[in-house]
Amino acid sequence: MNVHTDFHAQAQTLKFETRAFIDGAYVAAQSGENFETVNPATGKLLANVAAGGAADVDVAVKAARRSFEAGTWSGLPPRERKKVLLRFADLIDKHSAELALIETLDCGKPINDSINVDLPDSIETLRWHAEATDKIYDQVSPAPRDVVSMIVREPIGVVGGVLPWNFPLFVAMWKLAPALAGGNSLVLKPAEQTSLSLIRLAALASEAGIPDGVFNVVPGLGPTAGQAIGLHKDIDCVSFTGSGEVGRLFLKYSADSNMKRIILECGGKSPAIVMGDVRNFAPIVENVATGILFCQGENCSAGSRLIVHESIKDRLLDELKPVFESWTVGDPLERTTRIGAMIEQEHLAKVLSYIETGRKEGARIALGGSQILAGTGGSFVEPTIFDGVSNNMKIAREEIFGPVLSVITFKDEADAVRLANDTNYGLAASLYTDDLNTAHRVAKQIRAGTVSVNCYSEGDFAVPFGGYKESGFGGKDKGLAAHDQYTETKAVWIQLR
Ligand code: NAD
Repeated sequence: MNVHTDFHAQAQTLKFETRAFIDGAYVAAQSGENFETVNPATGKLLANVAAGGAADVDVAVKAARRSFEAGTWSGLPPRERKKVLLRFADLIDKHSAELALIETLDCGKPINDSINVDLPDSIETLRWHAEATDKIYDQVSPAPRDVVSMIVREPIGVVGGVLPWNFPLFVAMWKLAPALAGGNSLVLKPAEQTSLSLIRLAALASEAGIPDGVFNVVPGLGPTAGQAIGLHKDIDCVSFTGSGEVGRLFLKYSADSNMKRIILECGGKSPAIVMGDVRNFAPIVENVATGILFCQGENCSAGSRLIVHESIKDRLLDELKPVFESWTVGDPLERTTRIGAMIEQEHLAKVLSYIETGRKEGARIALGGSQILAGTGGSFVEPTIFDGVSNNMKIAREEIFGPVLSVITFKDEADAVRLANDTNYGLAASLYTDDLNTAHRVAKQIRAGTVSVNCYSEGDFAVPFGGYKESGFGGKDKGLAAHDQYTETKAVWIQLR
């Protein structure tokens, strides 16, 4: 990646596209209205973005349906779609420095993360799904000799994507890559806090050769544009990532409209379990810190509950604190920064109120606990560790979505499993042990979509990602399973004469 190191200077010269992208062209919202998007690190206005509403969503859906029925994309041979998607990935690669900068300015995440994680992972995700396009086979089922029974996959049609602000491009890619690979046409709505990178991406999709009407982006507020996507009668499927509260609304929208397929990726309260048998703490504390501090803790699979054997808790905590302190909080445009700004003032207030609640509930602050760098105008909070947390405290039950770790102790393996599973969520878990038997035994008992052992990881794009319980519904992102959710399965039963 060709990255100039003076990101501040580059940021000054950056011009943002802020309009919707519908039917192959950038257009203003029909209402003519805009909403503000703010740089979380400075609190200053970054741009005014087109406030798409129901009318804009409707035009986008009509364009998507037209393109779908015309077969300009859905009717292409899979190998042709693959070529276009690979070209799309190459174009994102070519523009990745610019996209990384947009992401950091709009989202507040460290530029190092945008450059080293969000962009390369987005590009590789797209390449992986593009490669799958001409490698997924249909089936012929067992049938009588005078019958040919085929099970064929078809694109579902018009796919809506309603997206979160923590990984604006990356999570969008989890959805758009398999949906495009399957031949669908899309209407995507970025989160209102972070619309700019996806709007920019639309031009690259078009340049790569994705036909007009197939790739539409309608920025807008949740209760207007988001709801319009949820309720639209000509959208066949909506894939949503965001809070459980809004996820539930999509189930209602579907029931109240056309029973469209709904896929939800919602939040988590993921455990990091450290068994008493571990000898080398150094790699564990690095992973535990990454688990809760990466992306400012604004990460659905953040390891926010450290469930540690009582015999090693104090030693582990002693080793954890300096590692937390080494994660520099500050200007996301500095290469040394590892924790950027919380997405917005309201969210910072929410994180601080959870810290206050933790104190009131009787948990002890072992590290951090305060807002910092307020003079910048940005929304920064210290990495924070709560010791003495009980699993029924609010800070152990609700998603804080900030760099706040709750430390909970256990007595034996059964206790650890009980605590890990004692949550409404089930997105991810990490387990640290030196015993392979313990690893397998405990991993089998954890009710979560991903269990990583001796590391903090979601795995790569080849494995499914999604939650048990209230962390997810209806499907999984990533892996080949992601293709299934943007596909209808048809049985074709042919009687031979
Ligand atoms: P959010 O639910 O507030 O917003 C998500 C999207 O829904 C946004 O595009 C928003 O505009 C839209 N929306 C909001 N209100 C709406 C409404 N009434 N009708 C229709 N759409 C509406 O979530 P967020 O604050 O952007 O993201 C944080 C949440 O996302 C956290 O809970 C986090 O755990 C979750 N998340 C989950 C995953 C995952 O894969 N499981 C990944 C990232 C984030």
